[in-house]
Order: sequence, then C-alpha cells, then structure tokens
Amino acid sequence: MEIIHLSAECYPVAKAGGLGDVVGALPKYQCKAGHIAKVVMPMYHKSFVWQHELVNEYESDFEMGSIRFHFRIMKEKFNALGFDLYLVDIPGLFDREGIYSYDDDDRRFLGFQIAFLEWVRQWQHRPDIVHCHDHHTALVPFLMQYAYRYQHLATIKTVLTVHNGLYQGWMSWESAALLPEYDQWKSGLVEFCNAVNPLASAIRCAHAVTTVSLSYLEELMDHAAGLEILFRSFHYKCYGILNGIDTEVWNPETDKYLSFHYNGKNVDEMKLKSKTEICRLFELDSNKPLFVFIGRAVAEKGADLLPTAISKALSNTKGACSFLVLGSGDKEVEAQLGSLKTYLEGLYNCYIGYSEELSHKMYAAADFLLMPSRVEPCGLNQMYALRYGTIPIVRSVGGLKDTIVDFGENGGFGLRFLHSSAEDIASACCRAAELYYDYRESFQLIRQRMMAIDHSWEKSCSQYIELYQSL
Ligand code: ADP
Repeated sequence: MEIIHLSAECYPVAKAGGLGDVVGALPKYQCKAGHIAKVVMPMYHKSFVWQHELVNEYESDFEMGSIRFHFRIMKEKFNALGFDLYLVDIPGLFDREGIYSYDDDDRRFLGFQIAFLEWVRQWQHRPDIVHCHDHHTALVPFLMQYAYRYQHLATIKTVLTVHNGLYQGWMSWESAALLPEYDQWKSGLVEFCNAVNPLASAIRCAHAVTTVSLSYLEELMDHAAGLEILFRSFHYKCYGILNGIDTEVWNPETDKYLSFHYNGKNVDEMKLKSKTEICRLFELDSNKPLFVFIGRAVAEKGADLLPTAISKALSNTKGACSFLVLGSGDKEVEAQLGSLKTYLEGLYNCYIGYSEELSHKMYAAADFLLMPSRVEPCGLNQMYALRYGTIPIVRSVGGLKDTIVDFGENGGFGLRFLHSSAEDIASACCRAAELYYDYRESFQLIRQRMMAIDHSWEKSCSQYIELYQSL
C-alpha cells in the first residue's frame, strides 16, 4: 500500500511532543513491513533543512483568500529517516523557526494543506491512504471530497488520528472564505458552533478516525472539548490504536545521548552511574531515589500540581527523595517550578526549556517518572521509562491506564493513583520511596520486569495496516 502521512511534526525534523515521535516512527515501521509510507510536513527553518540535501520535486502557486503563495515540495534525497520525507516550503508562512504559536497559525496550516492538495492533484497515480494527524491537517478529508478542484481525489481513503482532542484548530466562520471553493451545500461539515472546526470536519469526513489509545477514545465520548457528540455519533468508524515507541531511538544500550549504556543485566549499576552524573549536575543527592517529570509544563499534564505535591512528598518523607523537572509551556507554571528551587535547595531542581539530550539522560538516571496528567491521550514518556528501567508513577487516565499496571497487582510494574490532586501525587511518591528503601528486591525485580515489556511499533503498525486494508 502507499500511505501518505500529513503532519505538522516529525522527529527529528521538528518535534514539540508525542506527535513528532509518532510520525517519525510509524512510517518507518510501515516501510519495514513492505509498504510505501511517505511523510509530508511543512518546511520550517530548522537545522535539519541545512544539514540534509533536499531536491526540488514540484513547485507551483496557490491562492488563499486574495493572497497568492508560491510553494515548493522539497524531497530529502537520501531516505535518511527510513521513509520518503517531503517538506512543503511556503515563503511567508513557514520561513520561521518555530512550529506553533504564531498569530497566523490557522492560515499557515491551511496553506500547508492546500499546497499538499495542489501537488497531489496532478499526480498520475493515486495513493491508497492519506493519513492526517491532528487538526493541522484535518481539513484535507473534507477538501478532497467537496472542494471542486480536488474532487477527483475523493476515492482516496482518508484516516484521521487524534493525538490530542483538546486542540481543534478553531477559526472564525469568516475564514471559511479562505478555503478552496467547495460545495456550499456541504458547509455544515466544516462548521461547528458557528466557526470552522477542522478537527470536527475530519471526524465527520475521514473514512476512519483513530485515537492513540482505547481508553482515550472512551474518554472522548464524555470529554472532548465540545466534540463529544461527534465521537459518539461516529463511534462506528473510530478505533483506539495504542502508540508504540521507536526502539531504535529509545534504547538504553545504544542511546547516543547516554554516557552509560545498559541492559537488563547491568541496569542497577549503570543507572546509578547515570543518576550520579545527573545529580552532580543539578546539585541533588544521588543516594536518594530520584523522581523526574519530563513534559509540557501545562495543566493538562498536571504540571501545576507539582510544586505542592513535591513539597508535600518531601515533608512526608523527611526529605528522603530528590526531584528533577524538565519542561516548558505555561509561563505561570514555569515560574512556580522555577521559584521552588529557592525553597528546596539540594532536594529539588529544574530545567525550564526543551532539551532532547537532557530528557534521554533523565529517563536513564531516574528511579521514578512522574506523570500526574489530567488528560493523557496515550503518553510516550511512560513507555520510554519502562524501557529505561525507570518506574512510572501515573494517574489512571487515558493511555496511562492502558499501559501501566500497579505493582500491587499480580505481575504489576508501576504505580497508579486516581485523582489529579497534590495529595494523591505526594502519597504515590511516598509509596515509591518505601519501595525503594524498604523493598529493594521487589524494586529491582520490577525494573527487570518492565525492561522486558515490548512496546515496539510492530504491533500497532500492523493494526494500522489492517485498518487501511479494511477501508
Ligand atoms: P505530548 O505529546 O502530549 O506532549 P507525549 O507523552 O505523547 O506528550 O510525548 C512527549 C514527548 O515529548 C516525549 O518524547 C518527551 O520526552 C518529549 N518532551 C516533552 N517535553 C520535553 C522537554 N521539555 N524537553 C525534551 N523533551 C520533551
């Protein structure tokens, strides 16, 4: 099959979170399974672009409203990522470094989708599947069916994957005038509450919708930032497919960022060395269990609860733990996490920002990974943690519920708690500290057990292929 993935992110070209990881890995595994998988994404001004040779595959113009844009489709020449990568260069929209958070994001991603369709409309052959990821690419299923210029593409099957249903790409209804001319009788398919809602349109128009875990799909029926009704009405074509992890990138035996490599046999010794290295850097005590948080510093991830939870956990354990946070996001949460350093010197530290290298080092160094998420569509961090022998402490929600079994249960290997409250997080930390200090053998056994769990992409990859074939 020929599958085209359309996405705003793809690791290592441009990544802001899990979407980048998934789109950087899934196509690689689909190619390994004998299919032709390609990724099409915007060409941001990122170092990847100057570090790789790109060839001009196609160029043309398109109109968005009254403005004419020139665009080029640039192909990475040497298949560096294990699949064909196409970057859509649109001067005026993507010649900037950042991925998101510009005032004109809605126009940028609409322009990206139009450029993609302009390119595909003149292909001599048809791909089997156009796989859209999140709202940035979610107008494509509608446009392929109802925009006059692209209607000959309507027979191509489309799939939408919802990586995060909170972000829907809302635009004012006036913005509908920017879309390529479409059948006005169908305008109800892009409209939701008097606005253009790309995610809603793809839930209606894509031939299949997937979410990145089964539990998240169930949760979306009740909490989907207004779109619950759609997830319920279109349930018959919705599927929960758990993400996998790229075991070539996330492998403690070969990880290019680590100073100390390890596997199940020498995990205790090598993790201690990694911990000592990190603790020295952040002035923490490596004789204590190290708890880390890695992720976006936003309420969705429960990051706002961390300052109180960490203070409580430290007071309940009489300072017997070390905490390290890596994250960026909400400025207020960042400030709270930053100022906590002055009160908890030697017990807590943080790095506010984004660092791929530090994240790898932290997964390797930590004893426990905290994920107090309020919402977690799948979560990749807990799966990286498992592979790196770091016990995940998670709230029972979404993909965390589907991947982590509490060590209190038969065969369990993580810690789960119920409520998104500082109290629940703190008491889970106390439970973890007890496991670390008083039940050393069980602690080590759990590590071994976790590291043997297989969360590689092979299984999820074949579920996607089965879904495509069913269409
Ligand atoms: P989401 O996509 O909702 O942010 P996921 O758990 O699906 O959450 O994926 C998060 C990914 O982003 C992981 O690879 C994690 O290591 C990475 N990540 C998040 N924040 C940072 C950061 N500040 N520095 C480095 N990596 C980060």
